[in-house]
Amino acid sequence: MNYSAILEQIQTDVAPLLGQGKVATYIPALACADPHDFAMSLQLVSGESYHIGLHNKTFSIQSISKIFMYEMALNLFEESILGRVNVEPSGNPFNSLIQLEYENGIPRNPFINPGAIVIADMLTSYFKEKSLRSIIDFVQICANDASVSMDESIAESEHSNGYRNYALANLMKSFGNIKNDVESVLNTYFNCCSIAANTAQLARSILHLAHQGTDPLTSLKHLSPEHTKRINALMLTCGHYDASGEFAYRIGLPGKSGVGGGIVTTVPSIMSIAVYSPALNKHGNSLAGTKALELFSKYTGHSIF
Ligand code: GLU
Repeated sequence: MNYSAILEQIQTDVAPLLGQGKVATYIPALACADPHDFAMSLQLVSGESYHIGLHNKTFSIQSISKIFMYEMALNLFEESILGRVNVEPSGNPFNSLIQLEYENGIPRNPFINPGAIVIADMLTSYFKEKSLRSIIDFVQICANDASVSMDESIAESEHSNGYRNYALANLMKSFGNIKNDVESVLNTYFNCCSIAANTAQLARSILHLAHQGTDPLTSLKHLSPEHTKRINALMLTCGHYDASGEFAYRIGLPGKSGVGGGIVTTVPSIMSIAVYSPALNKHGNSLAGTKALELFSKYTGHSIF
């Protein structure tokens, strides 16, 4: 398949959409992103990679970090996570408090904010003050790139404006589902969300998820095949907040978005993909990025269905 030509076609097709949608502003540092930016990277399990647009430009990966946190938690705690975080789609916005109240502080899944905050709590209990370093180390190993790091200005901006995340963490603490002090848990959570990467690094970092948990290029095993199946299943059913059904319907591939404008996707056994365009649709997913992936699935026929 001529992936270079397909990427060029996609870039042409999405050009009129760039600038539509809105960049996230509730984290003030994210508001500086240029809504016209676009990048897309394909990383094949065979080792070839294809890129278009601003694929060297780093951006805040935001909720895409929830994948790595959950991978680490699965490796450490396996099925015991389920008593504290479920694996059902929420059908609600990523930072909603309502469901948590009537479901006794147990988040629907690890890919919405409250779920990731509980996972951050579990990792904080295990790694203590080394939590953040351990998570960044894991992302660097997955990306095979020691230059991936966090953007401190984003972390600071999240921290000082994270009113809803404080509310979520405090509500869950009142139900006994946060064990550490709220400040240390959110410190881990905010810092993870502020990890910065470009689309080439991001596609590379999830390549193992398209290859049963083992990086096909380094042979390092990051996850068991069974856990890899679970992460991909969660990406498909819960990876796009309250638009997860629509993403599965239109694209038919496991994916995870972040409010920084990134989306990662796997085509099992074939490749991983990362796309970036910071203007978001009303669900908080990249508007042009979602369209680019829909076109990619259409032009290549790649889908898990
Ligand atoms: N750091 C963001 C928040 O906590 C992540 C949201 C997202 O990307 O879904 O609101």
